Amino acid sequence: MTAPISQMEFARAAELIRRAQRAVALTGAGISTPSGIPDFRSSGSGLWQRFDPMQVASLAAFRYHPERFFAWVRPLAEHILDAEPNPAHYALARLEAAGRLRGVITQNIDGLHRKAGSVRVLEIHGHLRQATCVECFRRFPSGRLIEHFAMTGEIPRCPTCGGVLKPDIVLYGEQLPFREVQEAKALIDESDLLLVVGSSLEVTPAAVFPVQALNAGAHLIIVNREPTYLDERADAIFRDDASIVVPRLADEVLNAES
Ligand code: NAD
Repeated sequence: MTAPISQMEFARAAELIRRAQRAVALTGAGISTPSGIPDFRSSGSGLWQRFDPMQVASLAAFRYHPERFFAWVRPLAEHILDAEPNPAHYALARLEAAGRLRGVITQNIDGLHRKAGSVRVLEIHGHLRQATCVECFRRFPSGRLIEHFAMTGEIPRCPTCGGVLKPDIVLYGEQLPFREVQEAKALIDESDLLLVVGSSLEVTPAAVFPVQALNAGAHLIIVNREPTYLDERADAIFRDDASIVVPRLADEVLNAES
């Protein structure tokens, strides 16, 4: 069991956030596990431990065996359809609204930051709101398609040409969305504090963003249940549940101002 986090540690981290002028958050799947969406790498429950990503979630695999991808993504899509933001998502939205956070860079595809009210959200691995036909490249809103797919398991097809519809999420072997990544890099380069929440920091480019921020002189706060390769370089580490730690940090920062 991990030792309870002391009030002093919260106060110290909150002070770093208060002093920052250009704080940014970087989030991963761990911020959404309290909303009921499993992550990929947590020991025991991570989705990656049961499937080989290259067999199901790469662009090449999708082209040849879309049915394998859809069978794999179905439980994740069901979880996402049912999910609501948790107190960690809301806390980041509150910090942004109070002018304490310039934006959220997320690896998540679940759309929960926007749902919680965050405005500047850079979804560098895409999202499920739209899908693109792999044959004619027409794009469609995917809400109903995903609901139908989650209920029936039928592969979604393009209403125009019948090609398979691929959700606008980034698969292995695919380019990341250019505009989002450029904007994320700019935010990171300008940042004076980076708050990492719920990421194993094992997937690039998110894994290298904190190093870029540190090299630019930023402070680093990590909220993650398991250790990351950058813990040694962090100014504060909270190895606990993000849905408890982040709201408490936000309260510390914002209550001191009211
Ligand atoms: P990851 O699965 O690699 O790591 C998640 C980390 O979060 C782990 O280190 C774990 O210890 C930690 N964690 C889990 N629950 C936590 C909690 N309640 N509080 C604090 N920490 C917690 O996730 P990642 O780094 O985001 O990795 C990458 C890939 O997973 C991305 O490509 C992302 O697109 C994809 N993914 C997204 C979702 C989603 O959209 N919700 C879900 C699963 C996977």
